[in-house]
Amino acid sequence: MFTAEALLEQGCEVEIDIIERMPVPYGLVRFGVAPDHPQTKTVTDRFDQILSHPAVALFANLEVGRDVALVHLLEMYDAVVLATGAPGDTPLDLPGSDLPGVYGAAQFVGWYNGHPDFQQLSPVPLGSAVAVIGLGNVALDIARLLASSRARLERTDIADAALDAICAAGVTDVYIVGRRGALDARFTNAELHELEVWPDVVPTVERFQLPQLTGAQGSRTALRNLKTFWDFANTCRSAPRRIHFVFRARPVQILGGERVTGLRVMRDGTEMDIACGTVVAAIGHRSSPIAGVAFDAQRGIVPSDNARVENRLYAAGWIRRGPSGVIGTNKPDGVLVATRIVAECPAAGRPGRLALEEHVRESCLKRVDLDGWRRIDATERGLARNGAARRKLTSIPELLAAASG
Ligand code: NAP
Repeated sequence: MFTAEALLEQGCEVEIDIIERMPVPYGLVRFGVAPDHPQTKTVTDRFDQILSHPAVALFANLEVGRDVALVHLLEMYDAVVLATGAPGDTPLDLPGSDLPGVYGAAQFVGWYNGHPDFQQLSPVPLGSAVAVIGLGNVALDIARLLASSRARLERTDIADAALDAICAAGVTDVYIVGRRGALDARFTNAELHELEVWPDVVPTVERFQLPQLTGAQGSRTALRNLKTFWDFANTCRSAPRRIHFVFRARPVQILGGERVTGLRVMRDGTEMDIACGTVVAAIGHRSSPIAGVAFDAQRGIVPSDNARVENRLYAAGWIRRGPSGVIGTNKPDGVLVATRIVAECPAAGRPGRLALEEHVRESCLKRVDLDGWRRIDATERGLARNGAARRKLTSIPELLAAASG
């Protein structure tokens, strides 16, 4: 969307077709951003305007590689941009990580955000204690959601099945487990600080785990985080639900038989078991390879030379840079790619949209266009309750039915 916006802002004559695997647009904003952060999702107002621009068309429910080949797209269009993000999980390579009750964060977040690919996870018997591995904002999102009251969750666009599962579990303790120390955590301070203000949840950390504030070395964010951790450590209030930060605890094994019963970690040379019914590994996202283009499996990206992958083919966002940064971090990527396209891809008489429309017709594909998305959007907004922006449809058939009205 940021590439499309930047191309439109360049003021050149251009037609932009946005191809999306799901029947709905906006990828990570819809399926990754925490349901209780609606403010972050307001970027979709801007994206809706971009999609409504007369030069832009939406081809949703069309998967590159399955419904149309990349090589075919390069024949149709003067330039093709890969902006497929990082929808998968970095695998957790531990004994026991295949036990029922162990999830990757992309999978788990996708589940509570209503992603059709992950609805088969339900029912999720979470248990009253959950361990989340990783010291990043995704781990924090998951912990916060799991520690939320029903009243709080009901005001969000969380998927119904997840709302019911979280409330039924009666989660009382969430452990955020990191292999490094408090100063190495990758949380942004605003997100960490947010935990302090809820009366029914208390964030805790044992004092011995924290370096002293005086003389601590680190980035501005790391030092602010340390101050916040000390505030957590010094708090005396109690609450029905707790989020525990466990530092310098290297996960070594997932415990259990039929399903997860605990997480074993090594802390300061000593083994320690954390009893829990679910483990979520929030240890980073992974991009998927795209047929017909090189993929660096080590880094999980499509290699490019400053966004240019090959002649007329570009990459932007997490598939180019790897999974880091907030949504706005992708805007400069879009500007970079748009600038390169304008400079390097003169119009060469390729058929563009007409050819893709013909391919959709001939292959009998069920394309969702802008009108279809508007119908889905209106349906979901109409179903919303308790002040939430929408109540999501969570299966492909439901979404396609809403798209066709
Ligand atoms: P992240 O910030 O890169 O954090 C990943 C965490 O996983 C790190 O603490 C890392 O520890 C740990 N880790 C990696 N491999 C591990 C292993 N094998 N065992 C144990 N721990 C392991 O990634 P993220 O949380 O997925 O977030 C991705 C990006 O989205 C970030 O830039 C984040 O800020 C952003 N985001 C922002 C928001 C927001 O602004 N509200 C919300 C969600 C996500 P080490 O440091 O030891 O490697």
